Amino acid sequence: MTRLPNGWWPEPPALLGYAVGALLVGAALMVARWMEANFVGAPVSLFSCAVLLSGWFGGFGPGLFAAALAAVAFEYEFLMPLHSFTIAPNELPRYAVFSTFIFVLALLSGAQHRVTQSLRRARDELDGTVRKLTQTNEALRMENAERERAQKELRDSEQRFRDFAETGSDWLWETGPDHRFTRISDHLKIAGVEPEARLGQTRWEFGMDGATEKEKWTAHIAAHELREPFRDFVYSLLRPDQSIMYVKTSGRPVFDDGGQFLGYRGIGSDITAEVQGREAERALRQAQTELAHITRVTTVGELTASIVHEVNQPLAAIATNGEAALRFLQRSEPDLQEVHEALVGMIADSRRAGEVIQRVRALCRKSELQLVRLDIGELIDDSLLLVQREMRDHHVSLRRDLPPTLPPVLGDRVQLQQVIINLVLNAMEAMASVTDRPRDLIIRSRQDGDHVLVAVEDSGTGIDPAQIDRLFGSFYTTKPGGLGMGLSICRSIIEAHGGKLWASPNAGPGATFQFTIQLATAPLERT
Ligand code: ADP
Repeated sequence: MTRLPNGWWPEPPALLGYAVGALLVGAALMVARWMEANFVGAPVSLFSCAVLLSGWFGGFGPGLFAAALAAVAFEYEFLMPLHSFTIAPNELPRYAVFSTFIFVLALLSGAQHRVTQSLRRARDELDGTVRKLTQTNEALRMENAERERAQKELRDSEQRFRDFAETGSDWLWETGPDHRFTRISDHLKIAGVEPEARLGQTRWEFGMDGATEKEKWTAHIAAHELREPFRDFVYSLLRPDQSIMYVKTSGRPVFDDGGQFLGYRGIGSDITAEVQGREAERALRQAQTELAHITRVTTVGELTASIVHEVNQPLAAIATNGEAALRFLQRSEPDLQEVHEALVGMIADSRRAGEVIQRVRALCRKSELQLVRLDIGELIDDSLLLVQREMRDHHVSLRRDLPPTLPPVLGDRVQLQQVIINLVLNAMEAMASVTDRPRDLIIRSRQDGDHVLVAVEDSGTGIDPAQIDRLFGSFYTTKPGGLGMGLSICRSIIEAHGGKLWASPNAGPGATFQFTIQLATAPLERT
């Protein structure tokens, strides 16, 4: 950029121009008078210089003012008669030439001043324009940098979404205003369906569960009519190879700038494996429940002695009480008080027998998991009641180490009873061959943080630490008639309750099997 030469001064104030003009003319007059006094003649050109400088410095006004002052001073000081404002006729031509000359000079220097000033203004305006242009240029440069940054971000974001879309196994789809597919990405091929085959169709034309799940589809179509987004809509369709495919899809409506509905855009994924996995899991759970039921029934078979004893005892008592009552009635004077007591005893015994049968029936019942608040001590006692006869027959001495109260746990009564009975029967069987030491069975329980811990300790054959994990596997047994499913089922029951079941060899003879079970936070449910 070219720069204007330096030495430009700003336009002086008008008064200063006039003052400078007066000063210059005054100075010229004094110099001229001094020269006239000391040398020969006065150099009138001094006035010319004063006028010229005044016009150059202050413009037309000060220039003409200086010219007028110079004309008056010249006439007064240097024309005959001297020091008078009258002019001798012979001086008139000289005065006329002088005056014309200085006024022309004033006009010329004023014109020069005006040109200079307009150049200065032009320079100032140019400066301003250049400044504005520089600012505009800077703003444009920043705008451009900002646009480039935004474009780069847009490109990066596009690339990121392309990467996500291309690396995932989900497919992207678009439909038109009539909800027919207009575009489906090639990822659908991975699921075994040609995208082209679906173009031009609506989802509800090829979804195969329309007849069985009418409500689901009606709500889905209604959401489309209302242009509402939808999320995780699951439906099934038939692949070309006639296999069923489960699809999960989500979409949102698309509108143009004017609010015109253009269709939907969304994403679909093949969840066949997930659905089939869930199905398999459900079937497995069902099989486990069946198996647990069978082993419970088998266990009940093993408990026959206890059950028979538990039922026989009250039955025998009922018979005895019945006979006694008859005897009291046959007396010449029937003792009604004794008869009453015998009858009360009979009712109590029949209730006892009924309760035992209830417990056995509950164990044999096939039922879904029912989590309720349970008193674990009560549950242990109920379970021990069913095995006490077997324990006596096997000469096992039982020690209960249970605190008087424990917070309730959350569990299924029948399933937890099955676990306790199983562990106790296993302990008894492990002690069956022990003849050289007492057959001690200790059952303990205590609170352990937000769990209750139950331990069954025996003094039997013990377990090999290297085999501990195998004990809990299916069909692992060391017993001739064993099934090898008891511990495996017990572990899955305890894990389904959010607890743990494990075994450890005792420091002395025997082994300890223990499990934890979560404390209940819900109010206790009386069963
Ligand atoms: P089963 O009782 O039909 O054998 P389980 O799954 O209940 O099936 O037990 C698997 C195996 O674990 C038993 O055969 C036995 O070898 C071992 N076992 C279980 N409980 C004990 C115990 N208290 N002491 C020693 N071994 C045990």
